[in-house]
Amino acid sequence: MPDLRELYLEMVTDHAKRPRNRGAVAGADHQAHGNNPLCGDKLRITLRLDGDRIEEVAFDGEGCAISTASADLMAETICGKTLDEARVLFRGFKDMVTGVQESTDLGKLAVFAGVREFPMRVKCATLAWHTMIAALEGRGEATTE
Ligand code: ZN
Repeated sequence: MPDLRELYLEMVTDHAKRPRNRGAVAGADHQAHGNNPLCGDKLRITLRLDGDRIEEVAFDGEGCAISTASADLMAETICGKTLDEARVLFRGFKDMVTGVQESTDLGKLAVFAGVREFPMRVKCATLAWHTMIAALEGRGEATTE
């Protein structure tokens, strides 16, 4: 079994090169722009809710490999989740990449644990998540600053 670092590099490279959820959701009812000035990452998240469930989510914009891969995996992970579940995942992800707390319940997202060794890249990894929460809360913009 490959170690977590190897898995992390593989998954980041794969999702950055071939994002599955890039684009814009048709008929989106929530959206926000995210900006990480430290790295230059700029994302837009669009999503559509069905009641309190996230029915569809996509991202576009330009960013480094980590922000792109994180946005793609974020979209994949929260699709079909309720708003509460998405918020719990956001907190768990943030705690994991900032090193506050190990999470046992993040599935594939656990590969991003490696980011905590690179403090400059933590904001790249969390940008899409902050932007998603901003969209859900009706704030049009999010920044990692
Ligand atoms: Zn970045």
